Order: sequence, then C-alpha cells, then structure tokens
Amino acid sequence: MADTTETDWVSRFADEVISEAERRAPGKPIVCASGLSPSGPIHLGNLREVMTPHLVADEIRRRGHDCVHLLSWDDYDRFRRVPAGIDPSWAEHIGKPLTSVPAPPGSPYASWAEHFKAPMTEALAELGVACTGISQTEQYTAGTYREQILLAMRERERINAVLARYRTKETAGKEVAGYYPYKPYCELCERDLTTVTAYDDDSTELAYTCECGFGETVRLAEHDRGKLVWKVDWPMRWAYEGVVFEPSGVDHHSPGSAWIVGGQLVGEVFGGERPIGPMYAFVGITGMAKMSSSKGDVPTPADALEIMEAPVLRWLYARRKPSQSFKIAFDHEIQRLYDEWDSLGRKVATEATQPAELAAYERAVRTSEGPLAATPRPVPYRTLASIVDITTGDDDQTLRILRDLDGELTSLDEARPRLDRAQRWIDTQVPADQRTRVRESPDTELLAALDEAARDSLRLLVDGLDEHWSLDGLTTLVYGVPKVQAGLAADAKATPELKSAQRAFFALLYRLLVGQDTGPRLPTLLLAVGADRVRKLVGV
Ligand SMILES: [Zn+2]
Repeated sequence: MADTTETDWVSRFADEVISEAERRAPGKPIVCASGLSPSGPIHLGNLREVMTPHLVADEIRRRGHDCVHLLSWDDYDRFRRVPAGIDPSWAEHIGKPLTSVPAPPGSPYASWAEHFKAPMTEALAELGVACTGISQTEQYTAGTYREQILLAMRERERINAVLARYRTKETAGKEVAGYYPYKPYCELCERDLTTVTAYDDDSTELAYTCECGFGETVRLAEHDRGKLVWKVDWPMRWAYEGVVFEPSGVDHHSPGSAWIVGGQLVGEVFGGERPIGPMYAFVGITGMAKMSSSKGDVPTPADALEIMEAPVLRWLYARRKPSQSFKIAFDHEIQRLYDEWDSLGRKVATEATQPAELAAYERAVRTSEGPLAATPRPVPYRTLASIVDITTGDDDQTLRILRDLDGELTSLDEARPRLDRAQRWIDTQVPADQRTRVRESPDTELLAALDEAARDSLRLLVDGLDEHWSLDGLTTLVYGVPKVQAGLAADAKATPELKSAQRAFFALLYRLLVGQDTGPRLPTLLLAVGADRVRKLVGV
C-alpha cells in the first residue's frame, strides 16, 4: 500500500500520515486539520496553517486515499478586543462569542465571525484548497461535544494535575481551587465573564455567576452555551475528529503550550492520540503599501491573490519545508519571483528538473481535482507591469504592444489573469513617484545640446527600430548601438569602456523618453512607447 514517492517534504509527510492512519483507524478516511480564528482579518501569514495540511491532504488524495481536510473555525471563541478603525462602542461585545458580535458597520454579513470568514473562504476556493469548514459555534451549540464536555468535567482533577506540571514557580504554590475546564457564556449578557461556583457529577448541575451580576444553575447535560477552555478543547477535538495531521505555529510549542499540554490530555483524558504536527515557521510580508489592503492594515490572502496568480502563491508554500520561513513580496521583488516561476515552467517543459522542484511545480499548478486557472499566453510579469504602467491601463494600447511581443495573441483575455494581477500591482503597490510617465513632447533643450556622437547614436537606434521590433531584437539593438559607434562587432565582449558607453546611451534614452535617469527595462519601454512616438521623442 505504501507506495513511497519520496520526492519532497509533502510526500514524506503523506507517507507518514498514511501509515499512521492505517495504524490508528484502518479503513477510515484520513483526517488532516487546520484551525483559524475569525477574530479579525485573517493575516496572509496564517495561510500556512491551511496550506500545509492542504498540500499533504492533496498528495494523499492523489495516491487514491480517502482524505478529509477539516478547517475548524474557532468562531465560538470570545471577542477579545476592538481593533483599530472600529467604533469603540464595540467594546460592549468583549467576552461574547465571535458569532454573537455584530459585523463591522456596512458589512453584509450577520456577525463579526462571518464577516472575516467570507474573504478567507473565497481566497481558499481560488487557491484550490478543498476543505470542510466546521463552525465551532454550531458544534458547541448543537451539543455535539456533550459527552466530551461531561467527560472533561468528570476528569477535571486529572486535567488540573496535567496543567499543574507546567505551572510556573510563581503560580505553582497557588491552589487552583475548584478548577473547571468548562466556561459558560452568561445567559443574560452573553459574555464569558463567568465563574463556575459548583458542579455535581451525578446530576451534572452546574452553578455559575457572572460579573454582570447574573447567576444561575443549569444541567450541563442539557446546556449548550459554553465551551471547553482552549487547552482542553483542542485535544478533545483531535480525539473526536480522529485528526492524524495538524501543523501549528511556533508559538504553540513552548512548554505548557496547548500543543504540549494537549498531547498529554488527548491520551490521558480523551483516549486519543496527538496528530503528527510539524511546527511551521513564520511567513513574512515585504513592502506592502499601506493604502492597498481593503480590509484594514493587515495583508490577507485575498490581497496577495490580487497581485499574483493562485499557482504562484501555492508554489511559495509548496517549495519550502514548513520549518523554513520565507517572505511574500508585495514590492518589486514580485517581478523577480515571477521570473523565477516562468523559468521553472520552461525548465519543466523542456528538460529534466530535480524531483523536488518538479513536485513543487506540480503541486502549484494543479490539485487532485484538476488544474488551476492558468494564463493561456503568459507574458513576463515585469513586462506586463511596465506596459500597464506606461499605457496607464489603456486596453487598445496594451493589446497593440502585446501583439508586438506575441504575434499569435488575439485578445487581452489570453494574457489574463496575469495581466490583471500586474495591473493591480502597479495600481496599488507602486508609489506615484515611481510610476513611468512618457513625455508628451520632445525635450528640445536637451536635444539641441547633444553632441554629434549622441545624435549619431539616436540615428542608429531609430534606423534599427523596425528591423528589431521585438523584446529580444530591441535588447540586441540598444546594447549594439554603442558597439557600432566604437567600431566593435555585434558579439564583442563587454569592456569597461563599452559598459560605460552603454550606460550613458541608456541614460540619454531615459531622459528623452521619460524625463528620468532610469526607468523600466529599455526594450519593454520602447515597445510600450511605440515606434512612432520613439522617433518623435528622440527627435530624429
Ligand atoms: Zn453576564
């Protein structure tokens, strides 16, 4: 059964999870899990919580096994604080379950939790992540965990003893009188500012008081308005769902953390086993412009998908082991990332790639359900970015330039969705002072001041335009003009003198075309400006 295809980290975990699932629950669907809290915008960094089990679950499915990926929404957690930008009056909801807090003003959603879940759910669908969302509010309020809650309450001394092993010196001496792993939400004010004052195992009668002044006695066997505390809730769900794989962030792995304590409680109390759970490293974000996030100051997966295609975002996660941290670029690095991605694509199509490289590519472009949306005729991202920058999004001009690059391209749709991502990147991430503004009229003053050699270089350029009107051709042309002037052959090796002449020539062209010393790569710029306008601006 275990057909090991040990090509990359995903395959190695899939091997391990399949064999562990066969030992724990033979014949049953294999369960991988993620957990997210919709307490606010879901940070792009938290996508790793979902992508790690997704990739493993997808590999398990590719091998023909039945596998479910549960995405547990911790929407029955308490609302902890009012984020910046939200009306301070939301403070009255602190302590209520996230599903009982009203959504931010203007939201079409019924609750705070739904408001923040929705864009994440949409992004996951675009990323090809097939997972089953579970609302913990629904689970708890439907009494799904009733037996587990009663069990945890019966075993409260044992749970307290496990927790005590990790209590720090400061708290160790203090008696934890009347420890209860269950926290009711107040019947009157809906908040969790409650204290359990008594519990009877036989009758399951539970008495609590609330800071609001309310108090009552309920029968826990019938009570569905409360939850197990986090360190007990997590292992309870491992056992209840039979989770075999669930990664977690570095912060969960310190002594006394939920992962460590849960690993003991799951066996000692709930009769289950801790999942295989790699610790994943931090994912950072570079250069995100403040203005661009539509959901506050936090970059979300939806923000990333506005500027890069789903396979590229998937690739970032697939190619790095969970223990390796990396950064997602919103700045100019995204152009280099796309160059790397395109070069990998060419390599995959034409020559043998390393097995791990190929595996990461395959995981990026398709899932066990099929291929993800791709751009039919992909033009390099940096070229697209330059074009939409220069044409300021004018479709006719953009199409004209793209046709110069790719004669077989018939409509802009064939360059999409990549074209739209590059457009969005230029619009939201590139500051106005870095945008390219092609001159409307020639710089007559500069042109009049040119010496004969400079005029000659411009004539050589203009004379070669038609013959070299392609990205490669114009590259040859702009590097070649200074060679011709120096009496060198077209394939002459670069000398310091030649390089210096080339730099001077490029600077002159940037001055004449965009009024700056630098700009987008010259061949792209020339194509984008168009031959007629180039002739007009260089004054020859
Ligand atoms: Zn209350």
